[in-house]
Amino acid sequence: MCDNCKEPYYPTREKLLKYFKGEGITDVPFYRGQGCRICRRTGYKGRVAIHELVLITEEIRTLITTGARVQQITVAASKVGFKLLRYDGLKKYCSA
Ligand SMILES: [Zn+2]
Repeated sequence: MCDNCKEPYYPTREKLLKYFKGEGITDVPFYRGQGCRICRRTGYKGRVAIHELVLITEEIRTLITTGARVQQITVAASKVGFKLLRYDGLKKYCSA
């Protein structure tokens, strides 16, 4: 987000629930770039990487090789600290 031209806005309740269901987001302001000379009218400047990493434990290996559902694998991964990509993005967004 371009610091020079970003402005706060509040997404609708429906949008918050659509993209952040269960994350407990309430009345936190979001920001969007208006576009300016510094960001070449894009509203963006620079990049931030977001990550998702799954540590393959014996339990997860077994689930994968036996054709378990993704949700089962996600639950097993959560036990060893796995966080969704969306969580990392939201965390970085909120700390920016
Ligand atoms: Zn700008």
